[in-house]
Amino acid sequence: MRTLITNGTVVNADGSTQADVLVEDETIAAVGAGLAADADRTIDASGKYVIPGAIDVHTHMELPFGGTFAKDTFETGTRAAAFGGTTTIIDFAVQSRGKSLREGLDAWHAKAEGNATVDYGFHMIMSDVNDGTLAEMDQLVGEGVTDFKLFTAYPGVFYSDDGAIFRAMQQTARNGGLIMMHAENGLAIDVVAEQAVAAGNTDPYYHGVVRYPIFEGEATNRVIRLAEAAGVPVYIVHLSARDALAEVQAARRRGAMAFAETCPQYLFLSLDDMGNGFEGAKYVCSPPLRPADHQEDLWRGLAGNDLQVVSTDHCPFDFHDQKQLGQGDFRKVPNGLPGVEDRVDLMHDGGVVGGRLSKERWVEIISAAPARMFGLAGRKGVVAAGADADLVVYDPNRRRTISADSHHMDVDYSCYEGRQVQGASDVVLSRGRVIVENGEWKGEKGWGRFLRRSTAREHLA
Ligand SMILES: [Zn+2]
Repeated sequence: MRTLITNGTVVNADGSTQADVLVEDETIAAVGAGLAADADRTIDASGKYVIPGAIDVHTHMELPFGGTFAKDTFETGTRAAAFGGTTTIIDFAVQSRGKSLREGLDAWHAKAEGNATVDYGFHMIMSDVNDGTLAEMDQLVGEGVTDFKLFTAYPGVFYSDDGAIFRAMQQTARNGGLIMMHAENGLAIDVVAEQAVAAGNTDPYYHGVVRYPIFEGEATNRVIRLAEAAGVPVYIVHLSARDALAEVQAARRRGAMAFAETCPQYLFLSLDDMGNGFEGAKYVCSPPLRPADHQEDLWRGLAGNDLQVVSTDHCPFDFHDQKQLGQGDFRKVPNGLPGVEDRVDLMHDGGVVGGRLSKERWVEIISAAPARMFGLAGRKGVVAAGADADLVVYDPNRRRTISADSHHMDVDYSCYEGRQVQGASDVVLSRGRVIVENGEWKGEKGWGRFLRRSTAREHLA
């Protein structure tokens, strides 16, 4: 099967060129001007970009949280991702307290296999650090699960103390993997949250108030310092506040192996969205939405490469059922927002159309950097001969309005309801197969394959 994509502008992170792209079976065979091939099918990309399929390195399909489950399955979540131009996800397998990493990883393989519609990998969330789980970390690295996420937030659930975090970091320094950190001071947050509820401030808005930006800054500095001491690269997930960005910047200036992502919700939404009574529950996530004046700092961080990646932290809960668990106490609202479908277009609109990012930098942030940093370089994140034919024919001029009425995520609201964005995916290919075409689904449950990824030591050096 040969597919020729003609007349498009191929946009890679390192440059753009007018070129055709020839796909043979699952792989890109050639990129060049005037490719004449007896293709089985030709896709005209005149006036469009041809970009590498986007990669979302932070999703939570079917995550158990707060007595319920994130609603998207690997089938519905990856289908929605594909409609939005994302052809690879890396989801977080979870070790439950008292269980092994293996049990957690097996459970996630079982959720994804035969269901995912695009390729996927896993990171591993560690809830217990002990001799057994430390030894298991090395095994997982050998299986292509090369990053481990720990938390300074959520005491009693995912929280690890500094000693546990440091032990995991030492182990990871030895096995070549990467440490990912949810960096907020969960113990201090719980004190302030308790005081807020005692004072009768129970609306979702107070979720945003009690998790101070300085608590994120403090924890970010602490975990980076611990990582420096252990000699391991560290990646701060969902960085939301300028206080934390300043710590990442300072660390990078002194040569630390510190990296960070932010998410669209921190670039496009703010604490103001959390007002309006219980409606604010739609926007409850952690770290919380920040006062709007943090946004431009994050955009500058992205432009200047102190932030390398934008992922979504996709973790959808229905407003009319699941979010209601937090009526009367914001601490009981399940934490998480839908977003896997919207990231590529939001970043194009706010970044490229908004004049904050070049189109090449946009591709870097949504696809090339995620591939490079998470062990998929050469296979994903680039339009080049030899890479997997994960491709998006992207119309940079089409306007659309984001709405729960038209999105494909299995959730009953959109955080961006009514927002108009410029830029949309027209045709999406996963390993050479057209899976979305002009708004129609052509993909298949089970098409997605598990990706064994290389280690940070191999690709971050
Ligand atoms: Zn997350």
